[in-house]
Amino acid sequence: MYKVAKFGGSSVADASQFKKVRDIVRADPDRKFVVVSASGKRFSGDNKITDLLLLVNAHLKYGVDCTPLLQSIEERYVGIAEELGLSFPVHEQFTRFISRLDEVTPEYVVSRGEWFTAKLMAEYLEMPFVDASEVVMFHHDGNVDMERTQTKLREAMIHTGGSFVLPGFYGSTVDGLTKLFKRGGGDITGAILARCIDAGLYENWTDVSGFLAADPRIVENPRGIHRITFEEMRELSYMGASVLQEEAIFPVREVNIPIQIKNTNAPEDFGTIIRETANEHAREHLITGIAGKKDFVGIYVQKAHMSNEIGVVRRALSILERYGVSVEHVPTGVDSFSIVVNGEDVQDTIYSIVADLQRDIQPETINVLPGLALVSVVGRNMSRRAGTSGQIFGALGEKGINIRMITQSSQEISIIVGVQNEDFEKAIHVIYDRFGDAVVTRD
Ligand code: ASP
Repeated sequence: MYKVAKFGGSSVADASQFKKVRDIVRADPDRKFVVVSASGKRFSGDNKITDLLLLVNAHLKYGVDCTPLLQSIEERYVGIAEELGLSFPVHEQFTRFISRLDEVTPEYVVSRGEWFTAKLMAEYLEMPFVDASEVVMFHHDGNVDMERTQTKLREAMIHTGGSFVLPGFYGSTVDGLTKLFKRGGGDITGAILARCIDAGLYENWTDVSGFLAADPRIVENPRGIHRITFEEMRELSYMGASVLQEEAIFPVREVNIPIQIKNTNAPEDFGTIIRETANEHAREHLITGIAGKKDFVGIYVQKAHMSNEIGVVRRALSILERYGVSVEHVPTGVDSFSIVVNGEDVQDTIYSIVADLQRDIQPETINVLPGLALVSVVGRNMSRRAGTSGQIFGALGEKGINIRMITQSSQEISIIVGVQNEDFEKAIHVIYDRFGDAVVTRD
């Protein structure tokens, strides 16, 4: 079984991190394919190379001298090469890069972070280097051309004898220009590689030991989530518990390759395995995890006999669509409904939206309820189990937390409760303390 091991920016931030990467790669002969991000922060307050390169572009655009900036980038790589005794000519390559700054595109400039990191890593791991610009191919429309990419990657596999280091985050357009993925896109490169070479596992090495069952800033020492489904992960990430670039799951999910999040600084920790189905044990946690966000706004609309009128909700939603506002939830009553949206999205437009609702719907009441926090309780084991939501609501009620909204996802894998912003942390505490460790037995 092949494994793709992708190392994020903090895992390759300096020479001592490179050493950890080498130990990890050497500890498992299946780790034949390594993808790296550009060197990230070494300490809080430090700069990511990618951010510095973006700054180089801004300097170039406005004609500001960026020599000191370029020097600081070069120094990072010279430092790593010297400390590890590598022979890769960083200075010469960097000088060459600088001499071509006026001919290359901004995306090419940013991609050099990954390129230099991968060059050094390849030498350090004594593995061949494969340039992403030769194997990761985009269509005209900006999507990855999976077929061509697969052909190229498989060729690279043969040429290199079945093992290589690949820079993440970029590839080539049909015209041969460098194209970047979204920020954090090294995760996508790793997923594409895993898919194209039919890997058994996609390891994503970062600086945390996977997903936690609750935010450690709110709950002290929450348990780690060892197994999670793609669907559960989407729910938790959407509510802010993000570890992986969202789009990285699609290439591997389609072909059922599991992703394992691992911690480069604590490789013995199990981390989190993300896969399509995750029920492997007779005893499992009832709740996989809890996440949430503050500052939603509820727009409450009430109109007598609305239940007899067709198209009211549609008209209301189309107003929000016109303002480009994404709708989170629409809890409905017989003659009323609420539209829950992200507060930030309506900051400047809420009065116009209300005016339009007044005009198009002519309701009796419209109330805007700001300061709504949503708490999402996620768990595949909650589905078809009577009483779970009742217990959650009961626990919140006992602690005097007023629930302002309730929704459940259609697959019953998440229960979302809306509470006042002020009750947000307390609600998460109450739910975690009561259910965080609860287990269910499977038949
Ligand atoms: N270096 C890129 C970024 O900082 C891509 C990545 O790290 O995955 O966004």
